[in-house]
Amino acid sequence: MDRLYTAQEMAKIAGAGCEGCGACCRDMGESVRLDPLDVHELTLHLSRSFADLVDFAIGLHAEDGVILPHLLMTSAEPVPQCVFLQDDGRCGIHDFRPGLCRLFPLGRNYDGASFQYFVVEGACSLPGRTKVRIDKWLGVSEIKPYEKFISDWHYFVKALKEKVSHVSDPEKVRALNLQLLETFYVTPYDPMRSFYNQFGMRLLRARRTML
Ligand code: SF4
Ligand code: SF4
Repeated sequence: MDRLYTAQEMAKIAGAGCEGCGACCRDMGESVRLDPLDVHELTLHLSRSFADLVDFAIGLHAEDGVILPHLLMTSAEPVPQCVFLQDDGRCGIHDFRPGLCRLFPLGRNYDGASFQYFVVEGACSLPGRTKVRIDKWLGVSEIKPYEKFISDWHYFVKALKEKVSHVSDPEKVRALNLQLLETFYVTPYDPMRSFYNQFGMRLLRARRTML
């Protein structure tokens, strides 16, 4: 069993002397899933709408009948790489990179009551790790609301997948997916108000109307 840490604990995370080999940003397929906060940050900082970013930086995939966005890889040779990976191996959107990129090389473990992290051994081949406090590593400004958001979003999507698995009419499934994308990704969040409050209101409404 991996050692589990809270966000306030120190863990041996940072590879000493990462010079941007870029391995963690290549050949990721559809695995860098984008949650509503990731897309809010991308649209805000790139000044582009969700629709503008689809096919440029965002791809859509189906998971158990539910359509969700992911970070797009280019068809660069010899292996596909993230559209934001620069020639020097650095991230071109470091300050507003998605949550899964912030997490690397950590994993998350949560069950609605507790929220913990673990180090994914072998994720980065760099030898020698220095200790860093996990909330500092993640670099999100409000860790508790962030963790609640991650957990709430995960369990909402899980419940929606369950619901969709019992819907036989493809038009109804399509309508649910459109509502999901419209509610959480397409409709902009007001940058002057708390993202988490706005997300919470949308989630309440979506639980009532979609589940
Ligand atoms: S794989 Fe490790 S060494 Fe390479 S860029 Fe990512 S964090 Fe840095
Ligand atoms: S957004 Fe940045 S950190 Fe994340 S995969 Fe792309 S280049 Fe790497």
